[in-house]
Amino acid sequence: MTNSGDPVLGFIGLGHMGFPMSQRLLAAGYQLVGMDASNEVAKRAEASGVAIAESAAEVADRTDIVLTSLPSPPVVREVALGRNGMVDGSRAGVWIELSTTGAEMIREIAAALADRGVETVDSPVSGGVNGASAGTLAVMAATTPHRFDTVKPILEVLGRAFHVGTEPGLGQTMKLANNYLSATAIAATSEAVVFGMKAGLDPSTMIEVMNAGTGRNSATVDKFPRAVLNRRFDFGFTSGLMYKDLRLLSEQADEMGLPMWVAESVRQLWLYTVNRGGADADFTSLITHLERWAGVEARGAQESPDSSS
Ligand code: NAD
Repeated sequence: MTNSGDPVLGFIGLGHMGFPMSQRLLAAGYQLVGMDASNEVAKRAEASGVAIAESAAEVADRTDIVLTSLPSPPVVREVALGRNGMVDGSRAGVWIELSTTGAEMIREIAAALADRGVETVDSPVSGGVNGASAGTLAVMAATTPHRFDTVKPILEVLGRAFHVGTEPGLGQTMKLANNYLSATAIAATSEAVVFGMKAGLDPSTMIEVMNAGTGRNSATVDKFPRAVLNRRFDFGFTSGLMYKDLRLLSEQADEMGLPMWVAESVRQLWLYTVNRGGADADFTSLITHLERWAGVEARGAQESPDSSS
């Protein structure tokens, strides 16, 4: 189905998050022109009905609104402002940034694109790969009220759209605050479970009790049952990306002269995790490094249908 009045959408970065989001937009009737640096990823998207372009400039030449879901701030800058970047396209007038890029970088890119008549919707997401597939992401958009109204139908295909502010950077700030809590939940739950096991408790029982008690959090409800206790460590978000979010939070707090003691400890633990296990390891594997010190292994049988960020 194609709705003739709908804008044609570009989608750059069709990875863990981008691919399922692109599939939802196709299913909602949008026409999509995509691009990804990986041939394999681009081919999979093409087979699903996304027209593939050779460059970000070509995507912006062929579409009205470009969405991006890219791994790191330098990559986002390159795709937006680099050679053959979106900035060289002739048609797209709106950029919806779904990646976690940090407030400073998005402000810089938004200002450069505004000079070329392209409006930025700073709109990072939370909810993981499952949320991207199910259309249940939390979408945190910062843009003018008018622009929010015009892009809301697109954002709502992806999840629940919140208008968090008018200035680029506020979407990123919201996202970093959220992911700080998500990272802390995994780190603290891992420590708590290893602590209990070392003293003789069973990890599945611990998670069950926490979920009935006040320790309940996004790691106890979702990550531990779905990816830790079964030792699959396949939640779909890397330790490197989680560390990136904590680093961006820490940098922004520093700029504002704001001490964040707990965030600093959590960031250090994630840095250790990346150094030990590699940036590509799933973020749920943080516990394995704590287990090694303690000589225990959190193995259990729990599965849960729940999904959250
Ligand atoms: P990913 O690495 O799976 O996907 C990124 C894609 O971008 C890859 O397919 C890669 O080939 C492509 N890419 C890299 N450089 C490129 C370039 N120069 N031009 C075009 N394509 C390029 O990462 P992901 O997990 O999908 O995350 C994407 C963004 O979403 C990140 O900013 C991440 O922080 C954020 N995010 C991820 C999750 C999650 O659970 N995975 C949740 C919320 C937000």
